[in-house]
Amino acid sequence: MISIIIPIYNESDNIDPLYEKLTNELSVLNSEYEVILVNDGSKDNSYDKLCEIAFKNSKFKVVNLRRNFGQTAAMMAGIDYADGDVIVPMDGDLQNDPADIKLLLDKLDEGYDVVSGWRKERQDAAITRNFVSRIANKVISRISGVRLHDYGCSLKVYRKDVLKDVKLYGEMHRFIPIYASWFGAKVAEIPVRHHPRIHGESKYGLERVGKVILDLLVVKYFSKYLSKPIYVFGGFGFLSLLISVLSLGYAFMLKFFENISFIQTPLPLLSVMTFVTGVMSILMGFLAEMIVRTYYESQGKDIYLVRNTINLEGK
Ligand code: UDP
Ligand code: MG
Repeated sequence: MISIIIPIYNESDNIDPLYEKLTNELSVLNSEYEVILVNDGSKDNSYDKLCEIAFKNSKFKVVNLRRNFGQTAAMMAGIDYADGDVIVPMDGDLQNDPADIKLLLDKLDEGYDVVSGWRKERQDAAITRNFVSRIANKVISRISGVRLHDYGCSLKVYRKDVLKDVKLYGEMHRFIPIYASWFGAKVAEIPVRHHPRIHGESKYGLERVGKVILDLLVVKYFSKYLSKPIYVFGGFGFLSLLISVLSLGYAFMLKFFENISFIQTPLPLLSVMTFVTGVMSILMGFLAEMIVRTYYESQGKDIYLVRNTINLEGK
């Protein structure tokens, strides 16, 4: 069975056309399917529309979250409720084309564990979205070592067992192929269609770039250093000590040979201070990440809360 997972946040005008397109495209698949629509605390009448659909078609199921938890958490909720052995997340705003699901599934059947969509002709704002995302994708590709063109595309297909141990936080749904590949999964990428958003608005702007880069650092940190954080913290400690010794030495040199007093040059001090605090706060961030994970995982807590579900009784 195939489980399509769709996070929905204020998409009321997109829901009916999405339903039409999905039922058309999915009927040509020769396997069973379910569609799990996750209402991520929408403030418009999206939830009512989802209910209507779920009542007329039991293949469509609804997970209603208590408030807005964000796209990644909503996707995670959908995955947790999914029954299929193939998981297909996609956006609910019709920017992804349901017709591409079949292409991705065909590629998966060639023997891959993950097939990622590539929005080759992306239809979003040219500079703030497309250009920035091209650079971000290059950086992610370089740092992760998993060569894809478009990590941000929601439309992907996964074998369920790849997702078994994946826990997602922040903006991390885009890194699932990277995790998967580190655990030995075979990852492929094929171009998919992308349409401009017609109804409703995008929920993101430039601020997401920062979040994505920070998430990437965390992913990298966790993959390489989780079992030996002292290498990171200790290594930084040594470096920091070295810098402080060097700058002190230089200040003494200036004083005794050039007769320049320490207080005549506050700038080096300032730059060292800010540099140190900057890096320190990133390292503290890693610590905080570990604590957050302990918090959620040791207590079996989820990163979302469910108010109610429809067509998912007994799960
Ligand atoms: N979304 C969500 N919760 C959020 C933000 C977005 O469930 O807090 C959903 C949204 O309804 C859409 C998908 O995530 O189905 C992608 O959002 P959007 O189209 O705004 O992102 P973009 O395509 O602009 O990157
Ligand atoms: Mg969109």
